[in-house]
Amino acid sequence: MKGNSKVRWLIRTHHVMRSASFATVFVASCIHIAGRGYGPGAWAFLVGLLLVYPQIQYWRSGTSRNPVASLLNALLVDSFLLGAFCAAVEFSDCLTFSVMLGTLSNSAANKGWRNMGQTLLALAAGALIGVAVGGFHFSPATHWQAALFCYVGLGVYVLAVANITFSRNVQLRVVREQLRLHERELMETNATLQHSLAEIDALRKGLVEQANKDGLTDLFNRRYLDNMLERELARCARDSKPLALIMVDIDHFKKYNDCYGHQAGDECLKAVARALQGSAKRAGDLAARYGGEEFSLVLPCADEADALRMAEALRQKVESLAIPHAQSGAGMVTISAGLAVIAKNEHATADQLLRAADDALYYAKWGGRNRIQVAPHTRGWLDVDRHIPAGLMQLSWHARYESGNTEIDAQHRQLFDQINALHSAIRDDLSEALVTRLIDQLMRSVVAHFDHEEALLRAIGFKDSETHAAGHRALMQRAVNQVTLYRNGKLTLSTMLDALVSDLIVNHVLSADRSYFSLLTGR
Ligand code: GH3
Ligand code: MG
Ligand code: MG
Repeated sequence: MKGNSKVRWLIRTHHVMRSASFATVFVASCIHIAGRGYGPGAWAFLVGLLLVYPQIQYWRSGTSRNPVASLLNALLVDSFLLGAFCAAVEFSDCLTFSVMLGTLSNSAANKGWRNMGQTLLALAAGALIGVAVGGFHFSPATHWQAALFCYVGLGVYVLAVANITFSRNVQLRVVREQLRLHERELMETNATLQHSLAEIDALRKGLVEQANKDGLTDLFNRRYLDNMLERELARCARDSKPLALIMVDIDHFKKYNDCYGHQAGDECLKAVARALQGSAKRAGDLAARYGGEEFSLVLPCADEADALRMAEALRQKVESLAIPHAQSGAGMVTISAGLAVIAKNEHATADQLLRAADDALYYAKWGGRNRIQVAPHTRGWLDVDRHIPAGLMQLSWHARYESGNTEIDAQHRQLFDQINALHSAIRDDLSEALVTRLIDQLMRSVVAHFDHEEALLRAIGFKDSETHAAGHRALMQRAVNQVTLYRNGKLTLSTMLDALVSDLIVNHVLSADRSYFSLLTGR
C-alpha cells in the first residue's frame, strides 16, 4: 500500500468500520426481509453491496495514487449505494434510519458539514434508482430482532466514528506540538546563524582593515594608497579640483636605529606616524606609510600653497617632538618632504605624481634635509608641451633660470642646447654614430659642470656643499645607468632623453641648484 503510516492507518480503520457495519446491516437486512419472497437478484445485490463491495473499496484505496482522495470519493459511492439499499429493504424505519445516520455522521466526520448536502443527494439518488429498478415498496415496520441489530450496530459505529475523531485530534495536537518545537529550533538556529553572520562580517571588516593598514603605525599601507590615489586623482580631475601629494622621509634614520636600537626606531616611526595622522585632518585626506621610514600624505583639493603650509606645519611638529638624535645635524629627529601638486584642470597619472614628489624629496635631502622641496611645475617651468611627440620637443631657456654666475649659466645653457641637439637627432633620424657622439659630449659637459659647480660652492662657503656634491654623484650614476640601458637596447633614445631631462634639467638645474642661487645673486 502506498502512502505513509498515518494514511495506511486511516484506510485500514475505514475498511474495518465499513466491513463491520455493512456486515451488521447485512444480518439485520436478512432478518428484516426473510420470508418476503425476494428474488435472487435482490439477494445478490445485498451480498454484493454489504459483503463484497467493502473489500473492493479497500483494494481500490490501497492501490490508488492518492489513497485519501479515493477514500473520500468512496464515501459518496457508499451514500449512493446505501440509498439504493434503503429502497431494496422497502424503507424499513430502523434500517433506513441506521444507514442514513451512519452515512451522514461518517460524511460529517471526514468532509465536514458543508458536504452533508452532497451526501443527502447521493442517498436520494440511490434511493430513486433503487425504486426505478425494483419498484416502490414501502414497509417501514421492522422486526424487533433486526431493529436490535441496527441499534447495536449503529451505536458501535457512531462510537467508532467518535473515537477516530478523537484519535485524529490527539494526532493533530502532537503534530502541532512538534511544529511548535521545530519552529523554536528554527528560531534558535536562525539566531545562531545571524550571530555567525555578524561574526563573519566583523572578521571580514577586520581582514579588509588589516589588508589596508600598516601593522606598526596603524596608518594605511602602500597598497591602499596606490588604490586610493588613482581614485582621488580621477575624482579631482572630474571635479576640476587640485590634488597634492607629500612624500615624507625621516632624516638619518639608519643612524637613529644604529644609535638607539631598532625598538626605539619603531617608537620613533610611530611618533612620526601620529604627527602625520594629525595632519590629515580634512575628510578625504589620507596618511599612509609608504614603506620603511617613508610616509605619504594625499591632500585632495589642496593647492600648492595649502600643501606647503601643511608640510611645513608637519615638519615643525616633528621637530617639536624633540626626539633626541645625536647622529643627525639637528640633534633631534627631523623629516624631509617632497611635495607635488596637480593643479586644477591638469591631468597626471599616479605614477607621475609619485615620481615628482619622490624626486622633490630626493632634492630636499640633497638640499640639506629637515626641509620641504616643492616639485617644479614641469609644464610651466620648461615651457614645453608634454604631449609634443618625441623628437619635436625643444627646451627653451628663460631669464628666470639664471643663477647670477655667468659661467654656471653658460654651462646650464649648454646642457639645454645639447639635450635639444639630441631631440633634433631623433627628429632628423641621425646616424647612431652621431647620436653616440652627442651623448658622449653631453656626459662630458655634465661631469665638467658638476666639478665646476662643486668647486664654486666650496669657494663661496655654501653650507650644504657636501650634500650637493653627493647629489651630483647620485645624479651622474643615474645618467650613466640610463645611457647604458639605451646602449644595450633596453631603452629608446627618446625615453632615455626624457629621463635625462627630468634628472638633469627639471630636478637639478631648475630645483636643487636654486638652493644656492641666492648666495650668488645676493637675493
Ligand atoms: P636619509 O636621511 O637620507 O633618509 O637617511 P636614512 O638613514 O634615513 O635612509 P636609509 O634609507 O639609508 O635608511 C632607512 C632606514 O630605515 C634603514 C632601515 O633599517 C630603517 N627602517 C626601515 N623600516 C624600519 C622599521 O620598520 N623599523 C625600524 N626601526 N627601522 C626601519
Ligand atoms: Mg628612506
Ligand atoms: Mg630617511
